[in-house]
Amino acid sequence: MRFFLIPIILILIQCQSQPYEFSESSSSEILKTLSSDEMRGRQAFTEDIDKAAEFINEQFKEIDLDKLDSESDYLQNFEVLSIRAVNADVEIEGVQVSAENYFVLGDTSTIEWAETNEIKTEHIAAGENFQQRFNEIRSMDVEAFVFVDQSHENTFRRYQPFFSRASRTFPDDQSSNKIFALTSKSQQSSFSAYVTKEYDFLELANVVGKIEGNRKDEYVVFSAHYDHIGIRQPNTANADSIANGANDNASGTTAVIELAKYFKSKGKPERTLLFVAFTAEESGGYGSQYFSKQLEPDQIMAMFNIEMIGKPAVEGPNTAWITGFEKSSFGELLQKSAEGTIYEFYPDPYPNQNLFYRSDNATLARLGVPAHTISTTPIDVDPDYHQVSDEFETINVVHLTNTIRAISQAAVGIVSGQDTPTRVDASQLN
Ligand SMILES: [Zn+2]
Repeated sequence: MRFFLIPIILILIQCQSQPYEFSESSSSEILKTLSSDEMRGRQAFTEDIDKAAEFINEQFKEIDLDKLDSESDYLQNFEVLSIRAVNADVEIEGVQVSAENYFVLGDTSTIEWAETNEIKTEHIAAGENFQQRFNEIRSMDVEAFVFVDQSHENTFRRYQPFFSRASRTFPDDQSSNKIFALTSKSQQSSFSAYVTKEYDFLELANVVGKIEGNRKDEYVVFSAHYDHIGIRQPNTANADSIANGANDNASGTTAVIELAKYFKSKGKPERTLLFVAFTAEESGGYGSQYFSKQLEPDQIMAMFNIEMIGKPAVEGPNTAWITGFEKSSFGELLQKSAEGTIYEFYPDPYPNQNLFYRSDNATLARLGVPAHTISTTPIDVDPDYHQVSDEFETINVVHLTNTIRAISQAAVGIVSGQDTPTRVDASQLN
């Protein structure tokens, strides 16, 4: 009998290994580092964000997460292409169109449209819906010269400065050249255009760790964007200029790291868990867009996107809200799992703010994934939102830690494979 007893005792000891306990000291330490002045506001497309990526990478390494691919670290590196039209000469009936009356969209190739060229023409006529026509023409797969009727001048004046700046796109997603010109001339007029382009490859990186589950190909994503808005113009000479983004979104990133520790301590889960820190949420959403293309959306069972959980919600302490609550059964499942705990989840109280569409969850939701954002900050009145005052000192660390713990409890059903939220109907989204 003794011979058999020893392995049984060993197994019992293993089973009793305690899961990771969330603590205010741990969340506060991570939050403090991510929102420190050394991180300089973690703006994507600047080198300031690299420090934050490296810190999260080190955290994932310490937790000993699996890697998504066979890479040497947890950085999911990718490139965005920046394209800008320079040295342009655009003419209609031999008369030069002034710079404020046209803009160029398209890929890296030079434009050389002589008057004799048979380039397709389009017309946004008086009375047509400018935005709708613009989107139609923009998505066409051919080169086109677009005559915009002068009755659209006001709208055109809003679009022109925006689209005259460098445009950013994924290298694979380039569209063909199009020139939009505000003119009183008809679509039958002759035109010519000579435009050279300047372009640059910009480096970005998400940070992604994994805990492989028994159901290898059923993913549950815990995510938060780790970038912020960087350095702002100071109001006075000695004023603070670093937008530290403690709440937005060092708080969510802290949650992702703490949740990774917790689930790692629980042993092999039923579903595969992904812990993702997204880049460039504040600068075009490129991080979540790239990430969404690396996986089969049908294999992502749910996405817990976490944003701004450093301040208690209007409904009181120990509550959080979920964006797009009615778009899948995700929220109800969280409510069910949280029953009997001190914490409560409820639908987003700010529907007019369109928060469902204002974070990385929307990218995945558009692919049908039950992808929702969990948040607690009264965003309509928060004085620190996107300000240099979004500092560590404004964060309620007790609330932050309670919220992270609550998310870990509310996720139990989905992580264990017992619960599967319904899919989002992408055709119903904006
Ligand atoms: Zn944010």
